[in-house]
Amino acid sequence: MNIHQVDLNRLKSLETPLYYYDMELLANTLEAAKTAADKYGFHIHYALKANFNDRILQLIQSKGFGADCVSGNEVQKSLDMGFPASQITFAGVGKSDKEIILALKENIFAFNVESIQELLIIDELAGQIGVKANISLRINPNVDAHTHHYITTGLDENKFGVPNSELENAAAVLRSCENVNLLGLHFHVGSQITDMNVFKSLCVKVNEWKNWFEERGTTIKVLNVGGGLGVDYYQPDTNPMPDFNAYFEVFDKFLERNPNQEVHFELGRALVAQSGTLVSRVLYTKSGVKKNFLILDAGMTELMRPALYQAYHKIEKLGDSSDAQQINYDVVGPICESSDCFGKEVELPYAERGDLIALRTAGAYGEVMASRYNLRDEIRYLFSNEI
Ligand SMILES: *Cc1c(COP(=O)(O)O)cnc(C)c1O
Repeated sequence: MNIHQVDLNRLKSLETPLYYYDMELLANTLEAAKTAADKYGFHIHYALKANFNDRILQLIQSKGFGADCVSGNEVQKSLDMGFPASQITFAGVGKSDKEIILALKENIFAFNVESIQELLIIDELAGQIGVKANISLRINPNVDAHTHHYITTGLDENKFGVPNSELENAAAVLRSCENVNLLGLHFHVGSQITDMNVFKSLCVKVNEWKNWFEERGTTIKVLNVGGGLGVDYYQPDTNPMPDFNAYFEVFDKFLERNPNQEVHFELGRALVAQSGTLVSRVLYTKSGVKKNFLILDAGMTELMRPALYQAYHKIEKLGDSSDAQQINYDVVGPICESSDCFGKEVELPYAERGDLIALRTAGAYGEVMASRYNLRDEIRYLFSNEI
């Protein structure tokens, strides 16, 4: 059920701020992604870091997705939520020994290895435990995702992956590692990508590197092209789902895969972002000489994206205000930081203390980034299938 269809009095009776999850939209989105991927035999690992709420993970796991993790705790969480170890990948530039040992002992599908040093450590720890580690080598493809520089990850200046100049060396090191089995190649160029040409450029690089390894006699079983598919933050209701068909079609068309070569994806945001809304209440209104402020009970402690990378979230007043005057508000939170601002000069119907304000498209990198800064309350939830 869309947030605008939820009974306003019911919402008003609840303590805010709270995260509202539209579980029907989530189910439909997962269904659409799965159907589109299945058409080409593609595999999707859900990137847990976007949202690891239990109820959301349960649904995703039940639909047959794998899990893409970036910490040992995420690996453990995936196992606890019923994801099979054979469908768990573990990425990240800074895996600790403890995290690597956990993943080795649980026999996960693959480590996405981001440096030669990490490769050597995994080899050493696998040898100590007496297991073989399956790995994909993360290659930095030097593709510009054309998104905010904080969420671009595939350029030479980024910290992620093995740079092209070190691949020759990495291939030699791999041959000398006795406890490591090279399964595939891994790429991830950034997040919130809506221009399909970026993925087309990625395919070109993947083909190049795949050929490079195969020319050297290395079998590549898995091409893991990462995640990064964006969503429409501006029109969540007219565009509640990304065009998964168009997305997967690009890879089908431009990836030169051999028969038996698997293609893996690691989608996070695209699967969960639109199903989450942060619901908050107007605490105070302030009219300055130049500005009108709406001061909310939600802040950067509940939704950090605007403060962290100036991200846009659509702000709406809940309830019928069709005949209300439109006013430009600066919508701010209660936290003692100037960056604690959700939007400047946002046109909204006249609002007063007690009115409910929705911050849309907050299902990805919302709740998971919440902090207890200022000793704020723990996050509260409401799931559409429980009302
Ligand atoms: C963050 C991340 C993802 C998911 O990114 P989205 O933009 O949410 O799809 C996938 N793979 C890796 C390696 C990541 O770091």
